[in-house]
Amino acid sequence: MPLNRIRIFLGIAALALLSACGTGPYFVAKYEPWREAEERSCLASGAVRETTFIHTRASLGGQSLCGAEQPFEMSAADGGRVALKPAALLRCPMIPQVDRWVVDVIEPAARKTYGASLAEITVAASYGCRPMNNVPGAHLSEHGHANALDVSAFTLSDGTRIAVKSGWRGDGRQSAFLHAVHDGACGEFTTVLGPDYDSHHHDHFHVDLARRGPDGLRTVCK
Ligand SMILES: [Zn+2]
Repeated sequence: MPLNRIRIFLGIAALALLSACGTGPYFVAKYEPWREAEERSCLASGAVRETTFIHTRASLGGQSLCGAEQPFEMSAADGGRVALKPAALLRCPMIPQVDRWVVDVIEPAARKTYGASLAEITVAASYGCRPMNNVPGAHLSEHGHANALDVSAFTLSDGTRIAVKSGWRGDGRQSAFLHAVHDGACGEFTTVLGPDYDSHHHDHFHVDLARRGPDGLRTVCK
């Protein structure tokens, strides 16, 4: 059976049976050709190059519908100036967008609001072969495709730490900084979810590059 046919079969099988194998909670998933096409086009474009802070990974493991063809481990953005801790496991299209979010949105927001530079981003989650919000039986999360990043805090060069959980409705500066970071993310990602979206996101921002809606162009910024 050709590889694509096998993948489609696996997708249908997973859709019909739910994915009950593996150790985590089961999820619903289907094969979506755009994922492969988008990743391959990103890899071919040379938008992501191996550096001391961006490494290629052989694989991410997980079940057949999880993972990415050529995943990367990203431990810093903006030419190595801003650390991502722990390092994020992401597919190719996510890397330039995360970098742009940092350079065009988060760093300017830190300078404007605190007069300090951004030193570190706390990564709450990146790759994980699991259903959305870890709810058994839900659709496979974008995290399962290494197409999503959860961020819970930002640390500035002077040691100031701004956490989403306490700062979203916190003092004026924390709240202003976090709202600027959240709203600016909507220009870089197709999905941006924060504490105003639901209780699952009370302590972090979720950003991803999912294609939604009939034309794949529906965005969520909440
Ligand atoms: Zn998330």
